[in-house]
Amino acid sequence: MMIDNAEGLVFRPPSEARSFILRVTIGCSHNTCTFCTMYKASKFRIRPLDEIDGIIERGAAAYPFIRRVFLADGDALVLKTEDLLHILHKCYSTFPSLNRIGAYATPADLIRKTPEELRQLKEAGLDILYMGVESGDDEVLRRVKKGTTAALTTEAGKKALAAGMKLSVMIILGLGGQELTREHALHTAEVVSAINPTMLSALTLLIPSDAPLYQDVVLGKFTPLTARGFLEELRMILQHTDMTKPCIFRSNHVSNLVPVGGNLPDDKDAMIAVLDKYIPYEDNTRPCLNDNGNF
Ligand code: SF4
Repeated sequence: MMIDNAEGLVFRPPSEARSFILRVTIGCSHNTCTFCTMYKASKFRIRPLDEIDGIIERGAAAYPFIRRVFLADGDALVLKTEDLLHILHKCYSTFPSLNRIGAYATPADLIRKTPEELRQLKEAGLDILYMGVESGDDEVLRRVKKGTTAALTTEAGKKALAAGMKLSVMIILGLGGQELTREHALHTAEVVSAINPTMLSALTLLIPSDAPLYQDVVLGKFTPLTARGFLEELRMILQHTDMTKPCIFRSNHVSNLVPVGGNLPDDKDAMIAVLDKYIPYEDNTRPCLNDNGNF
């Protein structure tokens, strides 16, 4: 039985590996970030509710044991609140074992929702949001066309948490290149500390040859970090974080050079000590330019 035959590639956070991926949109409504190629081939559209209902019904019939649903694609929270509430109710009333629903959300999505709307979504079972902070530095955000600012991102993250949701945020090591590594590190530490999310993941920048950022590298406008540069940047971010509530930190994605993880603030020194073991090694690797190593 075909459950969903929509076009395009499907992405989800690593922690949603066992979830039923419910694509309430196709693509990303923003889709201009210069480092991101995830949805470049997809023309953005919001799917009709009857189409989504059909997917939920077929999904629940095929996988009645599903305990988690993840709303995709790139920014499911772009949907109207009443439509999201309909989808949440439909999921919980159709999947018999469901106990959690998560979604990607951009800062702009969260800013558009009122605190009351976010509370309604939380009460209807939207438990966790994943938000790409990427950088806390306004100049880096402008250069990569993220479409937000540090202040808006901070406000967005705080709104999600105030509504009672869990919030997992992602940052990208190396996003400022060698030109802005210090600004990127210090301001990103500032923003994530101000948000104090439930979880924080640091990914390492990879630049596929079809990403717009790749052209900036070719034109000499962006100089990628070297291996040591990534580790030093992560060290600087960790050193300057100032979490007042527990935050699970992970930098163990396949893109990362050295796996680091722990709880902030308690494990900060231990994680920095792990990085300090590797930083002194000779920096004899080529700059990390792309994911196939042929640049
Ligand atoms: S908002 Fe997220 S999914 Fe959309 S283009 Fe930017 S990084 Fe990619």
